[in-house]
Amino acid sequence: MTASATGSARFLIVGPQGSGKGTQGVLVAEAFGVPAISTGDVFRENISGGTELGSRVQAIVEAGDLVPDELTCELVRDRLAQPDAARGFLLDGFPRNRAQVADLEEFLAGRGEALDAVIELSVPRDESISRLRQRAIDQGRTDDTEQVIANRLAIYERETAPILDEYRGKGLVVQVDGVGSLDEVTERIFDALADRGLNVTGNGGNGAAA
Ligand code: AMP
Repeated sequence: MTASATGSARFLIVGPQGSGKGTQGVLVAEAFGVPAISTGDVFRENISGGTELGSRVQAIVEAGDLVPDELTCELVRDRLAQPDAARGFLLDGFPRNRAQVADLEEFLAGRGEALDAVIELSVPRDESISRLRQRAIDQGRTDDTEQVIANRLAIYERETAPILDEYRGKGLVVQVDGVGSLDEVTERIFDALADRGLNVTGNGGNGAAA
């Protein structure tokens, strides 16, 4: 539907659980005409579909722990090698630690590609927790129980938040305040990307409203 002014749109969206990154990620990906790839969704689909991968990761996902890097990285490499990701992608939930950052970098470098931006969705811890509690009521996700939420947020703070420093050092991070209505946050993301010259082209910002 639309395309970025630079021709490529390789994005990560990073934020704590409950930051709304899944929802926002899909909107950004649609606007730039690239696939939104959520590793959490891939694992959940495999679990509910009863696949071999699903049975390997089920207990790990339900405990809120990280699936082993080897398995996760291979899955992402396979997905990014598909034709619809040639011009770009938006990764949600990957990379989640330094080893995954290194693996993604190696994969992209091997293809002569690089990330265009890392969208950091900032939401205070209390806000994430209350949103996750609400999601537990609305969606009944098995990894949204109190104990598992605490584990997932602790892993985020310990392993995932530090990767943002790495990307900040490379000048890739676009920080966006994730507190506000869905539309407000979406608009902030598009404005912040546009400030870096990453524009959704097309008819009058149609993509941003998609
Ligand atoms: P999410 O929906 O992104 O919170 O992911 C749900 C669960 O899937 C996580 O709690 C992990 O168990 C697993 N998972 C998703 N992405 C990754 C990743 N990049 N590395 C390891 N485990 C992951």
